[in-house]
Amino acid sequence: MKIIDIKATTVTVPLEAPLRHANGCHWGRFVRTIVEVETDEGITGLGEMGGGGESAEATFRAMKAYLVGHDPARLEEMRFKIANPTASLYNNRTQVLAALEFACLDILGQKWNAPVHAILGGKLQDRVPFASYLFFRYPGAGGKGEVRTIDQMVAHAKELKQRFGFTTHKFKGGVFAPEIELEYYRAVAKAVGADQGIGRKGDRVRYDPNGVLSTEQAIRFGQAIEDLNNDYFEDPVYGLAALRRVRDFVRIPTATNTVVVGFEQLAANVINAGVDVILLDTTFWGGIRQCVKAAGVCETLQLGVAVHSSGELGIQLATMLHLGAVIPNLSFAADAHYHHLADDIIVGGKFKYECGSIKVPDAPGLGIKLDRDKVNQYAELYKKLGSYPYDQDPLRPGWTPTIPNNRWADPNDARLPEIKF
Ligand SMILES: [Mg+2]
Repeated sequence: MKIIDIKATTVTVPLEAPLRHANGCHWGRFVRTIVEVETDEGITGLGEMGGGGESAEATFRAMKAYLVGHDPARLEEMRFKIANPTASLYNNRTQVLAALEFACLDILGQKWNAPVHAILGGKLQDRVPFASYLFFRYPGAGGKGEVRTIDQMVAHAKELKQRFGFTTHKFKGGVFAPEIELEYYRAVAKAVGADQGIGRKGDRVRYDPNGVLSTEQAIRFGQAIEDLNNDYFEDPVYGLAALRRVRDFVRIPTATNTVVVGFEQLAANVINAGVDVILLDTTFWGGIRQCVKAAGVCETLQLGVAVHSSGELGIQLATMLHLGAVIPNLSFAADAHYHHLADDIIVGGKFKYECGSIKVPDAPGLGIKLDRDKVNQYAELYKKLGSYPYDQDPLRPGWTPTIPNNRWADPNDARLPEIKF
């Protein structure tokens, strides 16, 4: 079998409301590039890539010069063709490789009449549990959905728990000053019963300020939440050296999706540990198979692993489900932005949550198909709205956070940003 064409379509799919984070905001929609890899046997595979609020169509078109004629089963060869680690100094294509790997696995599954999880060693579980993902939010279309005050955040956590059945809650911080967010985090923990000590009683919580605290702030924050039922303390500071220092003073496992996103960094963390739990992202690591390999290293060394979300539509969510299904050492609920989406581009609409988990697809390949009408609808929306300055805060043009940050947003600022939906 040979690849004969690669097509790419940029779509933008609305979120229920703009999601705020340490670096600014997702502007009420995700911009994603949908990739279709076509073969000479009439089988087409699906991939997906983010790309920071911008279209990546031109990048995928350029990959045709490398991959037309390539056998989609030769995945290791494709890795070196597209993302050789030394060539990547000039042209880093790790995320591009990931989208192409998703599509090739989808092709192989259809050809072999096997779901991707079977190609990866077979599923160990039928459903993957997910965490609620609690963001500060600007109001969405119609002025609804703001999450700015403690009461709004607590109500949001309760609503997501009630709607989707989550029993783990991830708090996306780094927006307001840490001493303020500490009150929010403890209030959420209390509302979901994560304040009843460490153990099986009540829900679990995790805090992630995207690495913007100073080491000393992180130590103070960490010590102030040690009594809660925390999964882990996710990227409280930036860098392995800083995480090592925090780990010396805080009795909560550390986790990262920022500074261990490749095997070189994983090796560095093994030699001099700063991170206990590695958050595997099928995009950041360059594909599902790279994540499975990394999970194997972590299994050997008994490091924790979980599944990270870099923002996804249904294609990428499927990759996260297949990954979560085959890792024996997945000991935490996976992350997903998915429940914040208003719609999806796959046949049948959005994947359904049940008791906080999603069923792993069993159909051949990734187990999902494109809904052409939805793709066209959201491709048109992208043409209308275009890209956006990724991560910028629409209420604070020109603002940029430092690491560590001291330019926090003001929780009393109730202005509404003007964002086109
Ligand atoms: Mg994170």
